[in-house]
Amino acid sequence: MYKEIERTALMLKTSRNTVVVTGAGISTEAGIPDFRGENGIYRRLGEDKVMEIINKDCFNSNPDHFYLFYRQNFQSYAEIQPSHAHFALAELEERGLVKAIVTQNIDGLHQKAGSRRVYSIHGSADRYYCTNRSCQQGYDQEYVDSYPLTVPCCETCDAILKPDVVLFGEPIKNYYDAVHAISGAHLLVVIGSSLTVYPLAGFVRDYCNSNQDLIIINKGRTEMDYAATLKVDTNRTGDFLNQVLDRL
Ligand code: NAD
Repeated sequence: MYKEIERTALMLKTSRNTVVVTGAGISTEAGIPDFRGENGIYRRLGEDKVMEIINKDCFNSNPDHFYLFYRQNFQSYAEIQPSHAHFALAELEERGLVKAIVTQNIDGLHQKAGSRRVYSIHGSADRYYCTNRSCQQGYDQEYVDSYPLTVPCCETCDAILKPDVVLFGEPIKNYYDAVHAISGAHLLVVIGSSLTVYPLAGFVRDYCNSNQDLIIINKGRTEMDYAATLKVDTNRTGDFLNQVLDRL
């Protein structure tokens, strides 16, 4: 691993514009399972079932069914602390070595660790908003947890609340910022993503056509391993990034 640490440090030092892309794998060390791993929801319940319920059509047509499943299977992240990897990325930004993070995660751990420029393309699980367009009042997890019925409603207009996360069938958030950040990078570092979820995987694929450097830090294979300048296969991402920091 020594060579990979040295090489990553050197590439970070010499890059003029480094952007980081993160997926569920960066948060497993914080205690949040990914979807595709051993304890992941796709393994336990099947990808089709999850996609059928965590879906905008299901939310619109059968909010009871949606919320019953959502409340049982999607934890609140309020009590969870960032991992060493999240803190290391915040430190890299602080030192001017990382310009932005584009994340698929909905756990808010990058922001909690102190990263400032974070584009969360799938939204945030701890926020909710009223679906009445003329109201759109925001709510936190505490309000939803203490709501007496399965489907939480707005205290002002009584319309249904929606989690501020991107459901299957919905467009991503921060699209232009994410594309702009990734396409303008001179070094892209992907951490903890199998790169199978679109459109982000497509952004990374397009980046690879520009012949710039790509580092992938992931346990197991990803869809873009063939294009990586450096592939680091580890699930001790926090340790790895801390050792990189020590060499900068
Ligand atoms: P994924 O499940 O497709 O891939 C995660 C990858 O991370 C896997 O290849 C896994 O082997 C690897 N991994 C696991 N632990 C690791 C570690 N400690 N270090 C390095 N690699 C590790 O995840 P994805 O590509 O992000 O896509 C799943 C979707 O699920 C995303 O869209 C995301 O929005 C959502 N999701 C979010 C969270 C979260 O917010 N924490 C958690 C689960 C799923």
